[in-house]
Amino acid sequence: MRLAAIADDYTGASDLANTWAKAGLATVQTIGVPDGLDVSGAEALVVSLKIRSVPAAEAVEAATQAWDWLQARGFGHVMYKICSTFDSTDAGNIGPVTAALCARAGAALAPVTPAFPETGRTVYKGHLFVEDVLLSESSLRTHPLNPMHDANLVRVLARQMADPVALLDLATIRTGDAAIARRLAALAGQGARAVIADAVAEPDLEALGRAALAMPVSIGASGLGLGLARGVVAGGALEAAAPVGSPTGPTTGPSAILVGSCSARSLEQVAVAARGMPVLRLDADALVTSGGDTREALAWALARLDAGPVLVAASGDPAAVAAVQARHGRAAASAAIEAGLAALAEGLVAAGVTRLVVAGGETSGAVVDRLGIAGFRVGPEIAPGVPALTTLGRARPLAMALKSGNFGGADFFERALGQL
Ligand code: ADP
Repeated sequence: MRLAAIADDYTGASDLANTWAKAGLATVQTIGVPDGLDVSGAEALVVSLKIRSVPAAEAVEAATQAWDWLQARGFGHVMYKICSTFDSTDAGNIGPVTAALCARAGAALAPVTPAFPETGRTVYKGHLFVEDVLLSESSLRTHPLNPMHDANLVRVLARQMADPVALLDLATIRTGDAAIARRLAALAGQGARAVIADAVAEPDLEALGRAALAMPVSIGASGLGLGLARGVVAGGALEAAAPVGSPTGPTTGPSAILVGSCSARSLEQVAVAARGMPVLRLDADALVTSGGDTREALAWALARLDAGPVLVAASGDPAAVAAVQARHGRAAASAAIEAGLAALAEGLVAAGVTRLVVAGGETSGAVVDRLGIAGFRVGPEIAPGVPALTTLGRARPLAMALKSGNFGGADFFERALGQL
């Protein structure tokens, strides 16, 4: 049995890949559908896409292509990895992708749950809770891209799908594997195409994982990923692969840290790192005005690399970010700063950097795309949700860590470099 996922964004993909590696699976994370990358040693594989907020037809096309690619490589079960807060709108993309993958796989229905108890996401009677409040009462109700006004996921998903959506309730999940299988078969008989599954604790997700493994497709967050992985490991039917988490990447060589995240945690991490290494704070306004020109910053970094790690940060506090966005527009400012940091990464790697830490979800995506990375072997966890990565398919492998906003403790950068 080999386990695969198609993830709707890059950092969600890393989070799931980390969960699978921690569960003991030799895990590879690819960036898109990679050309010619050998993934035969992987027990688990996560294809990272960026389709959470694109038009539904585009998401369906990309997910279907990834499914075909995985099928050709013998992956038995494919999970569509979504956000644990069910980020989507009435136009998609969870419903359309679910329908398309079921059609492709010849699946009558697919179980769906964003539950991830470890991070406070639970589903009960089809309603998603974020910590102690309903999704619709959480901060997600004002999300800039996907405001979530309805916590009833059966209703939310039904608005995204032509076929009926049903509920697999907690009482059935806790009755046992046979009851779950019977209920899923009955719901399929009634024409349901997707089934929102309750789960409030890890054993619920383990039961659901076992049930899902008998089906070709499931939809969920890292919590369901954990259930699937435990099911695969307990089944003892893993295909042989290279040792998990072996440090195949370079452990020596120049190292650098690039920070595009402006989260409170990232700002704190930069301040802590500044006590032990040279830090360059970019002038975000000048960076946007120049269209992302980081040549001076590259020269600054190259002059110091031989002496030890360097850190370059674009980040500002909320007032500074608001000022830059007011002046240039949010999208233009973000794009220019991401492009600048990506160009910097390219220059650093060309100059011999072998260990690179990137902070910021979007920033990481921009850097990974710019470096043309096909995929990563997922190594040991540095901080919850953030694994050490080794690039695949490059003549000179890079050791990397990609951290989104609020992940990691105050000393994250030092720890990451120590582990890479
Ligand atoms: P996070 O994971 O913390 O959300 P992201 O990289 O996803 O981090 O998002 C941070 C965004 O802020 C990026 O688009 C980045 O280019 C942008 N950014 C970074 N520094 C600044 C700044 N000083 N002013 C405005 N925007 C910035």
